[in-house]
Amino acid sequence: MHLDQKVSLKALNTFGMEAEARYFVEAKTHSEVLTLLNYRHMIHMPILFMGGGSNVLLTRDFSGIVIRISSKGITVKEETATHVFVTAEAGENWDEFVQHCVASGWAGLENLSLIPGRLGAAPIQNIGAYGVEVRDVIDSVQIIEIDSGKQKRFTNAECQFGYRDSIFKRALKGKVIILNVTFKLLKISPSDQGSILKLDYGDIRSELQALNVTVPTIADVREAVCNIRRRKLPDPAEIGNAGSFFKNPVVNSELATSLRHNFPEIPVYPQAASTGPVKIPAAWLIDQCGWKGYRDGDAGVHVNQPLVLVNYGSATGRQILDLANRISDSVHQKFGIRLEIEVNVV
Ligand SMILES: Cc1cc2nc3c(=O)[nH]c(=O)nc-3n(C[C@H](O)[C@H](O)[C@H](O)COP(=O)(O)OP(=O)(O)OC[C@H]3O[C@@H](n4cnc5c(N)ncnc54)[C@H](O)[C@@H]3O)c2cc1C
Repeated sequence: MHLDQKVSLKALNTFGMEAEARYFVEAKTHSEVLTLLNYRHMIHMPILFMGGGSNVLLTRDFSGIVIRISSKGITVKEETATHVFVTAEAGENWDEFVQHCVASGWAGLENLSLIPGRLGAAPIQNIGAYGVEVRDVIDSVQIIEIDSGKQKRFTNAECQFGYRDSIFKRALKGKVIILNVTFKLLKISPSDQGSILKLDYGDIRSELQALNVTVPTIADVREAVCNIRRRKLPDPAEIGNAGSFFKNPVVNSELATSLRHNFPEIPVYPQAASTGPVKIPAAWLIDQCGWKGYRDGDAGVHVNQPLVLVNYGSATGRQILDLANRISDSVHQKFGIRLEIEVNVV
């Protein structure tokens, strides 16, 4: 292991924020992670774990050790007639893992194609896209406690998954390292795939039509999702961003009724019961406040997708955060809704 000093994190976060780590090290195995934890106890320094850096906003230099989890490995733990239990290490690239599952004929992750980042971060905010959340297919999550060095396996229920949320983002934030994740995926033959696919979200069906697919397979769904995402989302290789900056707010039925009265065109998505809380697209709220395409220096709001804040080159994390606060205040003023930041601000 190499412990480097004064390392620029610019190329290691998709926002492209310039920030320096006092120390930086890459951990490629579980025992390297343990060694680093022991070392950290000796020198008493703050610690920051990073995967692909696609869900962080760096607002300052980091005066401790940044540890990048780079462990690799995909192992089939168990197979039944219908399912496969596959364990993958935290340092695996998320989309390469999805590609591997699709190519193996294991269904469940295809709608989560092309989400940037590494596998270990996927349970933290319960990544989701196109009508699927990763909790739908997580069997368990193996962690190590930072203070005690003890390992534990969390069942799906123990992870307390919610919308872009889990126990790892709340009570255990900064207290555990995710080592690996076991997924329970469906084993199906191509001819049976039509019955289990989730096609009713966004433009998946129309994209499949455009691809001339009449009986889709999981590979077709992956291709459709990749095509749509490439068209709709800014590529961090071209323009710095961390995907959706805010969560879609969930509001109670009283506020929803008054909002519908004042803004009849407001899109609302009921959660469970038709009279209960509703989800409102944050992108719509931000757009209504006139922020789409806004630019202040190199900090901006994407021209097509107002939920995505962008760094046109040399914006700082503080400038992006300042813009986010201004957006949030204007949404609150107009709609009475406080937006919650989805990205991890460091
Ligand atoms: C263009 C774009 C599109 C995106 N689309 C989506 C989308 O559709 N749906 C979605 O849900 N998200 C989306 N995201 C957000 C992001 O890709 C995911 O949240 C992803 O899971 C983050 O992975 P990462 O490895 O980059 O995490 P990082 O940004 O490196 O880390 C995120 C957080 O997890 C912690 N962490 C990372 N690894 C570990 C570990 N092994 N153990 C403990 N803590 C750890 C970090 O300290 C940090 O707090 C998008 C981002 C971009 C840039």
